[in-house]
Amino acid sequence: MSKIFVPAKPSIYTETLDSLTARFKESGLPAFRATQVMEWLYGKRVDTFDAMTNVPVDLRNWLKTNYVIMPCESIHVHKSGDVTEKILFQLEDKQLIETVLIRYPQEGVGLEHSRKTVCISTQVGCAYACKFCASGLNGWKRDLLAAEIIAQLMHICRMEALGSQRNDGIPFDNIVVMGMGEPLSNYENVLHALTTLNADWGLKFGSRRITVSTSGLAPQIIRLSEEPVQFRLAISLHGATDEVRNQIMPINKRYPLDVLIPAVKQFTEKHGRMITLEFILIEDVNDSFDQAEKLGEIAADLHAHVNLIPYNTVEGLAWKRPNIRRQQKFADVVRSAGASVTIRKEKGDDISAACGQLKLRKENEIESLKANDLLTEA
Ligand code: SAH
Repeated sequence: MSKIFVPAKPSIYTETLDSLTARFKESGLPAFRATQVMEWLYGKRVDTFDAMTNVPVDLRNWLKTNYVIMPCESIHVHKSGDVTEKILFQLEDKQLIETVLIRYPQEGVGLEHSRKTVCISTQVGCAYACKFCASGLNGWKRDLLAAEIIAQLMHICRMEALGSQRNDGIPFDNIVVMGMGEPLSNYENVLHALTTLNADWGLKFGSRRITVSTSGLAPQIIRLSEEPVQFRLAISLHGATDEVRNQIMPINKRYPLDVLIPAVKQFTEKHGRMITLEFILIEDVNDSFDQAEKLGEIAADLHAHVNLIPYNTVEGLAWKRPNIRRQQKFADVVRSAGASVTIRKEKGDDISAACGQLKLRKENEIESLKANDLLTEA
């Protein structure tokens, strides 16, 4: 797919320490300044060049001429209870994306100090058209640039800075790449962004705390297993046989289970860490005990953890989740096949549900944002 967006001015988040150093050298600027600029961006997390007070004014002006810092603007925050916050960003070309911050209330500590996960988007829309997912309802618009992915996290760093208890000052504990889009179909930009977040000169965020979720792009899973930086992997399985998976995930026709499972196996063997199989439970679609048994066998074979997610209603779709008893029985069958399994609790802190519900705003919501001057005309 090739709808490539070229911004008027690139974001400096696009640069690595090496590329910025090279650029500085070309322009006759001292190389050590590149390290200094990175420290301002990812250590102090500033969002203006003028805040870089130990950088000479001439260089700040040079930076301003050549770059912006934030390639997007946060225009709306939608809170659901006090555990989930969805941040709506407007990109330079007026496209909209969302990022979700999920807090896990813990006993004895205020909510601002609770554990937090950030769910990021990687594309505007999604081309994969999984039948149960809201993100693909309006199709695919474009891939996000690496800087647009990094910016989602840097914004949250600034937004939540005061509540952080961690000694690295990063106000969240995990990143899940489970927002809008299929991360492995925007492979280069996603990898570039995650590598920057992990780098010593970048945010220094541990790669084991970053999970990439995919609908099952087998060749890219193999490619990911060969990367020098190893991220965690989650597979959106949702069907334990081709027959069921074909009905709800068109990608299965391209990479059926006998192609997908060996790719995941290769990843696990190379990686040595447990992966997660996500399985949304939809009544009368994939919740038979036969599916549970097959899912258990696949998971046991892959030494994978199974995460059962009771289906969240999507407007316009008639499906519903099975009742609690059925969910538990399904889990029991998976467990008895030798796999470890959990059922997502039914709360606002349901990461996958919160992320899976991301989509371009409904028309009436957009109208009301516009009416309140929160949104400029697309
Ligand atoms: N394209 C990637 C990343 C998107 S995350 C992928 O498919 O993995 C998609 C996740 O959102 C799914 O695994 C599922 O866990 C969740 N999801 C999507 N629609 C949902 C729904 N209606 N109810 C509950 N979870 C949903």
